[in-house]
Amino acid sequence: MSQIIGFIGLGNMGLPMTEQLLKAGHTVRAFDVNGVVLDEAVGLGAVAARSIADAADEASVVVTMLPAGRHVRAVYLESNGLIDNAAPGTLLIDCSTIDVDTSRTIGDAAAKAGLELIDAPVTGGVMAARVGKLNFIVGGTEKAFNRAEPILSVMGQKIFYAGAQGSGIGVKICNNMCLGVSMVAAAETLMLAKRLGLDVKRTHEIISNASGQNWALSNYCPLPGLVEGVPSNNGYRPGFTAEKMRKDLRLAMDAVDSVDACAPMGAEALSIFSLFCANGDAATDYSGISKLVGGDAWDYPFEPQDK
Ligand code: NAD
Repeated sequence: MSQIIGFIGLGNMGLPMTEQLLKAGHTVRAFDVNGVVLDEAVGLGAVAARSIADAADEASVVVTMLPAGRHVRAVYLESNGLIDNAAPGTLLIDCSTIDVDTSRTIGDAAAKAGLELIDAPVTGGVMAARVGKLNFIVGGTEKAFNRAEPILSVMGQKIFYAGAQGSGIGVKICNNMCLGVSMVAAAETLMLAKRLGLDVKRTHEIISNASGQNWALSNYCPLPGLVEGVPSNNGYRPGFTAEKMRKDLRLAMDAVDSVDACAPMGAEALSIFSLFCANGDAATDYSGISKLVGGDAWDYPFEPQDK
């Protein structure tokens, strides 16, 4: 059923997500502080909202897709923001990748104001957003999840329910810490094989069927020529940039500190990706970390293999 949906944050991700909602027949009241992207949304068929409050006006649902926690706090908590201006009963869906504390803070504020709020961060990048194939990891009440699911299904293919509000972002941060660590491990492993003069293709095949198997190594291989269709075969064009992995590892380490957890491997992965970004590779796909760990064991720069 067609709904009026407010959409705030029309950047790399928000704009194609808006397009999917429009294609599904929803009315989208779009808002961004950047007039250029707002015009693009209008070109796609959205209604231009003049403010956050205007985006929420008559909307049953408002989606936000913002860069970081401070933007989310501003959009939700300031006097001209969503909490004070959305009508009671409005469902708020925050898809931004932010810290758990901010997510829980806006969740509590929404509940006090009689609003429903879920955190629904995504995995999958701009390409997935363009074809409506994002994965959402949702935190919130089951009632709010059930209400959000038909909207999220328009923009995504897998919709996971993680638990109470804040759990979606928590699970995403945990997942990406595991991914960052395992990508470094996969790159180091294959570089060692290369250095030892082993057949790297055969090594990759054996490990992919043995106890060292992991998603980074087997499905998103950081060396070219071993798995089809991955950024390592395409000059490490993203994909998912090293800068975004660095951001998510930073969020993971902030979460570690906030609860006195212990994650030395996560901390090491953050250092490695920070160095990679500082070396000028922030816009490179994160699997390009193989250039940094043992890169001398491989030809550099790598030749694209997918023609
Ligand atoms: P982006 O910077 O391209 O877009 C963010 C948009 O928010 C910008 O257009 C900006 O003008 C707008 N904005 C900022 N403050 C605002 C405010 N106060 N009011 C209204 N609009 C405001 O970022 P993106 O790449 O679209 O990413 C958005 C979120 O999605 C981030 O949290 C990111 O970590 C996450 N994410 C991105 C990707 C990706 O591949 N790009 C993948 C997964 C998750």
